Amino acid sequence: MKSAPPPGPSLSPALKRAFRVRLPAWFEKRRRPFPWRTRRTPYRVWISEIMLQQTRADQALPYFRAFVRRFPTLRSLAAAPQREVLLAWEGLGYYARARNLHQAARIIARRHGGRFPSDPAALRALPGIGEYTAAAIGSLAFGHEAPVLDGNVIRVLARVMALEDRIHTRAATQKLAAWAEALKIPGRAGLSNEAQMELGALCCTPRDPDCAACPLGNVCRARAGGKPEAYPVKKRRAPVPHKVVGAAVTLRRDGRILVAQRKDSSMLGGLWEFPGGGLDPGETMDQCIARELSEEMGVRLEVGPLLTIVHHAYSHFTIELHAHWARIRAGRPRAIHCADFAWVRPGQFGRYPFSRADHHIIEALRAPAGRAARKELISMWFGGKKKPVLKGV
Ligand code: SF4
Repeated sequence: MKSAPPPGPSLSPALKRAFRVRLPAWFEKRRRPFPWRTRRTPYRVWISEIMLQQTRADQALPYFRAFVRRFPTLRSLAAAPQREVLLAWEGLGYYARARNLHQAARIIARRHGGRFPSDPAALRALPGIGEYTAAAIGSLAFGHEAPVLDGNVIRVLARVMALEDRIHTRAATQKLAAWAEALKIPGRAGLSNEAQMELGALCCTPRDPDCAACPLGNVCRARAGGKPEAYPVKKRRAPVPHKVVGAAVTLRRDGRILVAQRKDSSMLGGLWEFPGGGLDPGETMDQCIARELSEEMGVRLEVGPLLTIVHHAYSHFTIELHAHWARIRAGRPRAIHCADFAWVRPGQFGRYPFSRADHHIIEALRAPAGRAARKELISMWFGGKKKPVLKGV
């Protein structure tokens, strides 16, 4: 039985030729020699696809190299402690990707004898592998006939076809999937996918697409309409929320500092942090930090001077993080609303994976002003000295 034609404008022979002949020829010349392309194994394709989910290829490259050096095989990844995996991921963000990768490696080692499954259903059953990633791994590592709709491919197809529906709507997704299917190179879906992804990354970029150099230029409706950047049509963005957060840099008599591990189920799960949380309405920053430490770790805190303020942007909100020195007045820390805690010397922070925002606090701690403040506070709080002299910290 013949399959139904894709919705929207008809796909002319010229359009199919552009996707099946000119685009792969362009790709042959322009493709970047990434290590996951030059030495392709299911394991390396998987690691790269997970990294590329939310990270640009050029940014992911050093992380990929370091990761496969540290964990060259699926078994070595499965055998590693989670902290090691998070340390290798530190700085890449979206840490659920690393936790899922680790968990999936353990499942593959246990259920599939360490061999990466090629079956699409088995791939989709692994943590962190959805429809899109399964299609990408399947087509690139196992030659499956599965078109992939990632951000780059969506942009290319939406522009070439001048798709007026907002992306991520059902109508748009159906049309894009049908076009990707109809325009792929028969028997070489992996090549089609990679070529479209590379075109989106290098030529059909979100801003300033290089239409003059594009192998699809003569069939592109958005270019013909003179407004390629108007596609894909997106929903208007809601304003990004801003949060004010407090964190305690809690000192102990021996100079160690209290850090806590976030629960796996929370944002940045598994990472370590200077404990704290969001400012409630009507609260001062000192009250916020003291309350948070009481709830999270069961200690009564004396909140001291400000160490630093960190501004950081996550994908869906921004934060202003006030890090204050502190000491414990009563109680012993317990992991109440955190996974674990530790007293750490500043020189040992490298053993723990921290988020970028917390790395800024570590930098402030290690800077000359931070070191001097720490020394003075230890002497004042634990050594009998009465008044601190704190300049510019
Ligand atoms: S012609 Fe321009 S807008 Fe169209 S696919 Fe090529 S780069 Fe993108």
